[in-house]
Amino acid sequence: MALFAALISVLACSPVGEPHQSNAYQAGAPGIGDADFPTDGNGGYDVSHYGLAIDYTPATKHLQGVTTVQASATEGLSSFNLDLAGLRVREVSVDGSAATFTHKGEELTVTPAAPIDKHDRFTVKVVYDGTPQPAKDSANLGTYGFIPTADGAFVASEPNGSKTWFPSNDHPADKATFDFAITVPAGVTALANGELTGRPTTTGGKTTFNWSERHPMATYLATATVGKFQLRQGASPGGIPTVAAVDPKFASVLDKLYTDSGKITDYWSTVFGPYPFSSTGGVVDDYSAGYALENQTKPLYGGFDPDEMIMAHELAHQWFGDSLSIKRWKDLWLNEGFATYSEWLWSEHMGKRSADEIFKTVHARPAGDPIWSYPPGQAKPNDLFNESVYTRGAMTLHALRKSIGDPTFFELLKTWTARHRYGNVTTEDFVDLSEQLSGKNLDPLFDAWLFQPHRPA
Ligand SMILES: [Zn+2]
Repeated sequence: MALFAALISVLACSPVGEPHQSNAYQAGAPGIGDADFPTDGNGGYDVSHYGLAIDYTPATKHLQGVTTVQASATEGLSSFNLDLAGLRVREVSVDGSAATFTHKGEELTVTPAAPIDKHDRFTVKVVYDGTPQPAKDSANLGTYGFIPTADGAFVASEPNGSKTWFPSNDHPADKATFDFAITVPAGVTALANGELTGRPTTTGGKTTFNWSERHPMATYLATATVGKFQLRQGASPGGIPTVAAVDPKFASVLDKLYTDSGKITDYWSTVFGPYPFSSTGGVVDDYSAGYALENQTKPLYGGFDPDEMIMAHELAHQWFGDSLSIKRWKDLWLNEGFATYSEWLWSEHMGKRSADEIFKTVHARPAGDPIWSYPPGQAKPNDLFNESVYTRGAMTLHALRKSIGDPTFFELLKTWTARHRYGNVTTEDFVDLSEQLSGKNLDPLFDAWLFQPHRPA
């Protein structure tokens, strides 16, 4: 985070040309500094906490929101941006004083009554409403963000769909804790990250669910999934609190979802190091998204009965992607390559095909197979979720395992998750740690597997 904050300052200052005096104020940049996604996130501040109060009525698809953002300025700010798409902003205040604002496209620009000093903490409150419009066809993920369904909403926001339902610094480089107060018609359930902080309260035909995620979370992992749900709550055999929820159409899946989510989380805790969050679980909704997303503490499965392999994938993401988040999207293999390799490890653990057998099968694909021409270490913004990022990313880890041996490889996984717990990481960080623990020069291996547009030998 320190490295990236330095980069933001440089980018934000560069158009001005001359160094600023220490008391100068400037407009925060409209992007956080990810060259592949130039308007995602924002510069000039670092969010520590989001408080989301959402009132959603499925019948009308109307959302009323009050989002409170606690942040600290990383530069003197005359104005700053939040990311928000397609909703009407009614009112913005900073530290309790009315602020002026403009909302153009996906950028909400806030000008506080008084400029904000570098390092000062400030609180922004945004009152807004409207009908959320999910994002479509960006980064080949289909539809994502806040997606209205027949009985509620399916909320899965990777890579940049949080702006479809709350104003934020919508980039994984800026993580924060979250509180949610989600109000829905009585009889409907609202599911968010973390744990319930009390019993849901019902007044005037509406029920409010209060959830709290006390560990830092990337915005795209936040959810407020709403609908008819059957719940099972308890703890894994290893003692990790577990919440499973299914749409009634998937009632027969509830016990398996609950049991396997706990069992797999327990096993990954022995392989990757202690589970980073306060609860685990999963949600199956009846919306056919065509994907699952590793929403923090509660992976969301879109309209299908998840098998153990996909649960192993989404729960491995709790370490790789959720606790350790990427600083820039081009390093997405650090999420998807690790989660895919975890599927291979799960297969091996279950006495099915070993990781080595799976690796050999993929490596035997012909030289013209598309995964050889797409280097997974440089995920492309218009083809972010390419199969290479997943499968060749996993192959990179297997090649590494064979090069440094099992004891060092598995020590590396635990050291990686411990050293960067709740933080942000880059590919360079992983290469450096691999070389440090193994004592080997691994540049040729990583270069061949991550960065060359052809099949490694
Ligand atoms: Zn994944």
